[in-house]
Amino acid sequence: MLTGAGTSTASGIPVYRDADGRWMRPAPVMYQDFVRSPAVQRRYWRRSMAGWPRVARARPGAAHRALARLEAQQRVTRIVTQNVDGLHERAGSATALALHGRIDAVVCLDCAARFARPDIQCVLEACNPRCRSDGATSAPDGDADIDDGADVAFAIPECTHCGGMLKPDVVFFGESVPKPRVADARDALERADAMLVVGSSLAAYSGFRFCEWAAALQKPLAAVNIGRTRADPLFALKVSEPCGPLLDALAQQLDNA
Ligand SMILES: [Zn+2]
Repeated sequence: MLTGAGTSTASGIPVYRDADGRWMRPAPVMYQDFVRSPAVQRRYWRRSMAGWPRVARARPGAAHRALARLEAQQRVTRIVTQNVDGLHERAGSATALALHGRIDAVVCLDCAARFARPDIQCVLEACNPRCRSDGATSAPDGDADIDDGADVAFAIPECTHCGGMLKPDVVFFGESVPKPRVADARDALERADAMLVVGSSLAAYSGFRFCEWAAALQKPLAAVNIGRTRADPLFALKVSEPCGPLLDALAQQLDNA
């Protein structure tokens, strides 16, 4: 099972791409730019401060709940998600593997200390009392679209242990998924009978490669997704429906089976 942004749209987490896989938003922050440039960090954290409340309010939707049920029925052995919102875990999934990390955690790049994102929000708001956190639209990673005029004066948080650079514990664009995490997900694929993709255009190679591996391993591959995906030629079955009601009906049918 590989899930993407389409799984969380009903929870109010917006998607990055339209049904044809086209980019709908300003380009996201690149990892190399973030670590090299204090200006990019200020811009990131200012937008993140504005976008966080919406992400923090998001609740699991029908798709998350149905997948947790399918997992409890042992129809799904592992949920690998490209989402960073933590909603599979909050819906009760025990096997969720967050391929791209979690937006509700922050890590120090110097001493590896970890922080809860709500605590960092308190620091951001205390240090930047003049920045409003409402009125902005938010992106899937908790980033928000706001104009960049006031970045210069924005105070960014630093590690309370070593004064080092903080970064959300998510895989940025231009950054690799940690190798043990990829190996863990690949291992789950090798042990699975089949793979289902839910709510992803598979535009990112970090997700698409699992479809390539499934095809190479001759595992049946299916998808529930509205719109084109990068792996369309590989699917034995593709259903273009909203994933929540469909998976809910499936879990219910299997409950009665
Ligand atoms: Zn530190």
